[in-house]
Amino acid sequence: MTQINIGDITITALSDGRMSFATSNLFPETPEAVWDGYRERFPEAFDAQGFYTNIGVFHLAPGGTQVLVDTGLGPTGAAGGLPGRPVFLSELGSMGVTGDDLDSVFLTHLHGDHVGWNLTHDENGSRPTFPNARYVLQRADWGHFTDEEFLAGGRRDAAQDTYLPLPEMGVLDLIDGETNIAPGLDAYPTPGHTPGHQSMLISSRGERALIIGDVIGSPMHVSEPDHLYRPDVDRDQARKSRHDALDLAEGAGMTVIGSHMTRPGWGRLIRWEGRRYWQAL
Ligand SMILES: [Zn+2]
Repeated sequence: MTQINIGDITITALSDGRMSFATSNLFPETPEAVWDGYRERFPEAFDAQGFYTNIGVFHLAPGGTQVLVDTGLGPTGAAGGLPGRPVFLSELGSMGVTGDDLDSVFLTHLHGDHVGWNLTHDENGSRPTFPNARYVLQRADWGHFTDEEFLAGGRRDAAQDTYLPLPEMGVLDLIDGETNIAPGLDAYPTPGHTPGHQSMLISSRGERALIIGDVIGSPMHVSEPDHLYRPDVDRDQARKSRHDALDLAEGAGMTVIGSHMTRPGWGRLIRWEGRRYWQAL
């Protein structure tokens, strides 16, 4: 397991597999030549199809509590028809952590590659995979992803499998804006990718980090923040949040941790010839 410490808080990088995307799928308006310039710098972020993307999940242990950030692609190994290799629960188990041990599950947003292991389904029915945890989500995301029109567009079954039952199971906490989650962990709203997308600010003993979820979709995205990114629900707002979060992290010298950065997923922002770049740690 790969770990990093931010002050007293130990963060472990877990993964629920990988996905590949054609570059034109994620960035339909961007000429291929833009990405060619990054293949040498970030070879691990490309494969024959295009972008080769980690599905990151992070385990944090602040002040005697245990927190997960997102729950991966899930047991079916498919989100939006994309095959993956679900591995997250076995990785968590190899840390000696069981589902019962988690105190919080911080959901950056409700896209399928971030909520996959929220629930467990078997012959006894459905239940939270982390029954003692509060599942923490921004209210704006809940509103968007439970909207009848949204669900009616062929999304109801996946929603039922991963998040719709959370309220009746009594484990969902909807929050609004900046909110303390655990000692040294605060929700930091970064809307746009989804209406209630949230990042997590980590602060301990003078050290700071920002888990940015899908604000940045790949190492290249740090340097190319303005192209139309198809998964963003509100493109202008997403672009603004992307700039704001990167400015915040760079200005304060924070470690940046991203769901889809190459595993383990943490790095720093550096400047080279006037442009911002991802530098993995
Ligand atoms: Zn994602």
